[in-house]
Amino acid sequence: MSQEWKELYREAGISDKVIRMGEKTEERLKERFCRIDEISEYNQMKVLRAMQKNKVNADCFHSSSGYGYNDFGRDTLEKVYADCFGTEDALVRPQITCGTHALALALSANLRPGDELLSPVGKPYDTLEEVIGIRPSTGSLAEYGITYRQVELLEDGTFDYEGIKQAIHSKTKLITIQRSKGYQTRPTFSVKQIQELIEFVKQCKPDVVVMVDNCYGEFVETIEPSNVGADLMVGSLIKNPGGGLAPIGGYIVGKKEQIEQCAYRLTSPGLGKEVGASLGVIQSFYQGFFQAPVVVAGALKGAVFAANLYEELGYSVIPNGTESRHDIIQAITLGSPKKLCAFCEGIQAAAPVDSFVTPLPWDMPGYDSQVIMAAGAFVQGSSIELSADGPLRPPYAVYFQGGLTWYHAKFGILMSLQRVLECSE
Ligand SMILES: *Cc1c(COP(=O)(O)O)cnc(C)c1O
Repeated sequence: MSQEWKELYREAGISDKVIRMGEKTEERLKERFCRIDEISEYNQMKVLRAMQKNKVNADCFHSSSGYGYNDFGRDTLEKVYADCFGTEDALVRPQITCGTHALALALSANLRPGDELLSPVGKPYDTLEEVIGIRPSTGSLAEYGITYRQVELLEDGTFDYEGIKQAIHSKTKLITIQRSKGYQTRPTFSVKQIQELIEFVKQCKPDVVVMVDNCYGEFVETIEPSNVGADLMVGSLIKNPGGGLAPIGGYIVGKKEQIEQCAYRLTSPGLGKEVGASLGVIQSFYQGFFQAPVVVAGALKGAVFAANLYEELGYSVIPNGTESRHDIIQAITLGSPKKLCAFCEGIQAAAPVDSFVTPLPWDMPGYDSQVIMAAGAFVQGSSIELSADGPLRPPYAVYFQGGLTWYHAKFGILMSLQRVLECSE
């Protein structure tokens, strides 16, 4: 690194020791980063081709208001998503407020009283517990008479095929598979692993609907769960596919029949996809989706860099420094609340927005312990932007993700390391 850059890093509070550690780690990762770029190039072409095929043009970017009838831009974007992810149909809307909402929508739209929901991959993401009713909540699926069953993963993190087979019965209507680890320390599943699981459950019960929670997984590999048999794939636009530009939104892609259910549930029976004004955000949806493959590559480089840097210092990291990646999340077990907070302070201090504030643990809705979050994002709470969070409970693991550019991710990680080292001294 040339001297000028080092001077800027020093001015920001990073010591020579940390700068050197970063340099050494980055040097070792050159080849790895090339492979990330190759996947990114493939996915960039995939998005571009879907846009070209659907003749995206300037009229697509017009805003609609009111009912949003005949919103050409909205309808075309949904075709772009469907083509890109290889599905029959898509629902991509600003009216879907976040990832949890998209998942709750897909579940409640495709389940009826008396049906059973099965998670064959252990406990789902924290916020889904209240959606399902694992933790009692107003309006949960449980309140509507939808039962839930879950099969734990085996000790080694693989699927308990025998247990899954036994858990599937006549009432099992929908099977939900979460790709990313969320706030757990299990590995994230590869698309190939998900394919094997889908093939197995479809053998057990051919008419079961399989939904994949794809949050944080988009564009990390060259294929997605929708390419390997998922009937529904769901995610958030303030994560990977929004490319950092979408200010709100969620998507659901999949089979026509299931997407139709989702549309009728989102708006109203009888109305479905026909209503829903795009309110001036549609261009950011297109542009964010266009940029997403490159943004995801930057975030991935950050995750790999952090894993290697912290692993060298003896911290346990998931995934480890050399493992292949299936989402953009990096978990680092810091072992104490003090270090967890220090890590988040470092990420916050490196942000373009709100770099001067100190993150504090708080009781976040939907989570069962206090959570600390570092987020200095252009879009509030966006986690494709550089962000870190972790529940204040043992083993005090921080979940770190995002970075709209690799350079920002790198700076944030070095700042975090600086703070963590200061707090152990
Ligand atoms: C983020 C996330 C969700 C929920 O998305 P929100 O936008 O935070 O509501 C669900 N599942 C997984 C795996 C996630 O990472």
